[in-house]
This record gives sequence, C-alpha cells and structure tokens, in this order.
Amino acid sequence: MTAYERQRILLRAADLLEKHNDELAALETWDNGKPYEQAAKIEVPMLVRLIRYYAGWADKIHGLTVPADGPYHVQTLHEPIGVAGQIIPWNFPLLMFAWKVGPALACGNTIVLKTAEQTPLSALYAAKLFHEAGLPAGVLNVVSGFGPTAGAALASHMEVDKLAFTGSTDTGKVVLELAAKSNLKPVTLELGGKSPFIVCEDADVDQAVELAHFALFFNQGQCCCAGSRTFVHESVYDEFVEKAKARALKRVVGDPFKGGIEQGPQIDSDQFEKILRYIRSGVESGATLETGGDKLGNKGFYIQPTVFSNVKDGMLIARDEIFGPVQSILKFKDLGEVVQRANNTRYGLAAGVFTTNMDTAYTLTRALRVGTVWINCFDTFDAAIPFGGYKMSGQGREKGEYSLKNYLQVKAVVNPLKNPAW
Ligand code: ADP
Repeated sequence: MTAYERQRILLRAADLLEKHNDELAALETWDNGKPYEQAAKIEVPMLVRLIRYYAGWADKIHGLTVPADGPYHVQTLHEPIGVAGQIIPWNFPLLMFAWKVGPALACGNTIVLKTAEQTPLSALYAAKLFHEAGLPAGVLNVVSGFGPTAGAALASHMEVDKLAFTGSTDTGKVVLELAAKSNLKPVTLELGGKSPFIVCEDADVDQAVELAHFALFFNQGQCCCAGSRTFVHESVYDEFVEKAKARALKRVVGDPFKGGIEQGPQIDSDQFEKILRYIRSGVESGATLETGGDKLGNKGFYIQPTVFSNVKDGMLIARDEIFGPVQSILKFKDLGEVVQRANNTRYGLAAGVFTTNMDTAYTLTRALRVGTVWINCFDTFDAAIPFGGYKMSGQGREKGEYSLKNYLQVKAVVNPLKNPAW
C-alpha cells in the first residue's frame, strides 16, 4: 500500500474514533472503572489526536543518500520491520493502544496486539473502526488473552519481528528474556516508575499542591509516571502537608459513571489488596497518616485518598511502585540533597520540578536521571512529546518522531559507479 493510502486510512480511522467518542469512553469506564468524564474528555480525544499525528508521518518517512568514500552511490531505505507484537496494560487501554498502533501502522507494519486481561473491550471496538476506515483484514489483529499464555506466545514467537511492551518492570524482564531466547526480536519497554515531584522553597505552594495531587491521584493512582515521591522543601513543608491533606479530603470518590467524580474504584481485587498492604506498611514503618488509610465503603474496590507525611527514603512506600491513591510526602533541605535522593531509585521514568527560578529548574532538569521532566506542570502528554524511561523504567521512546524508529528497519544500498569521472 502506498504511504498516502496508509495516511488516508489513519485519518479516516481518527474521524471514526472521534465520532464514537462516547461509546469508546463508556467501554473504557466499564472495563477499567475510571471516571467516564475523564475517558470521554481526555483519553478518547488524545487517542484521536495521536492517530492524526501519526497519519501525518505516514508519507514523510524516507531514507537518506549517504556520502560514502569512493565511487559509490549509497542510500538507505527505511522499511517496515514486519509483524509487530504489542502487549499493553490496563491503566490506559485506549491510549496504550494508540501509542503502539499509531506509529506501527504509519510505518507500514502489521500488528498483533494483546490487551490486558482486565480491559479487553475498548481496543476491540477501536480495531473494528480501523477496519471500517479501510484497513485490510489481517493488518491489525487484537488478541484478548492472559499474560503468561497469549503474552508469552507473542514475546517468544519466531515470526514476530518486533515487540513493544508496556507494563510492570518484572514482566518487562520476562518478555525481554523470551524475545532474546527466541528470535532476538528488538524490544521496546515502557515499565514502572517512582517519580519524584520536587517542590522548591520558591514554588507557588497552592499550584504545587494541586498539581502534586493530580500527579499522584490521577487515574486512581494507576499511572506508571505518577508523582509518587513528593519532595517538599523544609521551609514550605508544613504548609504543603496541611494543604495536600485538605485537597485529598475534598477528592470526590464514587461511581465512575456519575458526573463530577474524580476517582473510581481500583482495577481489581489484587491491586486493591496490594495497595491496602502498602498503606499498612506505611503506618507500621512510622510515616504519619494524615488522611485516608483504608478502603471506602463495602462495595467495589474503592480506596480512600491517602496522604502520608514524614516519609523516609528507606520505607517501602517510598521505594516501591504502589499504583494506588497513596501520596507520600518527604522533606528536603537543599538541591544537591534532593537530586541525590530523587535519583536514588531503580526507576527513571519522570519527574516534576516546581520552582519560579529558571536556573533551579534547569539545574534540576539536567541532574535528574529520568525520561521526562515536567517543569511547573505534570502529565502533559502531547502526541509529539517522546515518552520513556531511564534505568529500569524502560528502553526506547514512544510518541513523537522517536517512536518511528521502533517500527523501521534500515537497509543500506551500495552501488559502485562505473564511470565516476563523469
Ligand atoms: P500489571 O502488574 O500492571 O498488571 P503486567 O506487566 O503484569 O502489569 O501486565 C501488563 C501486560 O503484560 C498485560 O497485557 C499482561 O497480560 C501482560 N503479561 C503479564 N505477564 C506476562 C508474561 N509472562 N508474558 C507476556 N506478557 C505478560
């Protein structure tokens, strides 16, 4: 198929996804429990935007002519890699679908995508719309299945040419090993995080409180890049903790299909129990429970928005990815110290930096070993901005132009010239 045809199909698919915004959002909420308003107003529009973004790339992917030594005509062809295996998680099923499918289709690949077992519906519906838009049968295949069976089969398949995985760091290690043991398919990994959110002494405290709350509690705390270590300068610490607690107390938790709801239930009983265990561990290790700390009601996997202060670096709640509505607030004295502590983790996905001083902002930015630094903002996910992790938060980048190279092979073409003197 020509690049222009691919582009037109992607643009038509984006139009159809946009037209079916409300059904897609409802499926997402039904599967995942996230507030319908957020799915309808944020996630589906982001999915549409991302597919349009990659439609724009489809006819702008090409190789180079290379000035090699000697009488040679040398060029590179950028070819599709082949069959892309893609494994996605349950926290943002449609967005993860878009991040994977958009660049792979723009580059001319075929896809076998496995959704998470908790959230199979929205990607099936979206794939149906891609086919309505004219994508030939067999190009985009969505498989519903479990990780150790369907997921492992994809990771170890000899005829899958590339694997893109988003999920936990532990499972990332498993799929990388399966890929290595089978056909050495290249693997991109987007894994866990324990992102620092650093509030400096000159920050606008009210704005920082609100964004720190959003950075942690958004999507029921189920974000790989959640700002889950809130470092606050000692001079504003007490004020920050009071305000963070007041904000958490105001958080509206309930039936995700109702209007005005900020937080729905956690994804499933495993995660629900795991989060409650971490909360108990926070209390036992001596952190101060400012608010929350338990399940909410007796029906559904709802957890009270929870805030801990006086959290120390060594505590489990400051080290592990909790993936729930549990904010940990830590105190720091100076920038050198906070850089060292912020980087003292096996993860390196993202960071938030809150200051009104540009020099402080860029000093911290350059010192933090993370794939994204948000300065005075958080969770800004434009289609063009690359996303990915340092250290055990992953390998490679998704979104933006960077994602294209995950789905392309480079072929060098070398041709001697007979009459170079001409
Ligand atoms: P989480 O802890 O967030 O559920 P996982 O990493 O277990 O994260 O899941 C992310 C995705 O990886 C899901 O689609 C899941 O089915 C898949 N998965 C889980 N275990 C394996 C495995 N052994 N091999 C391949 N895929 C897996």
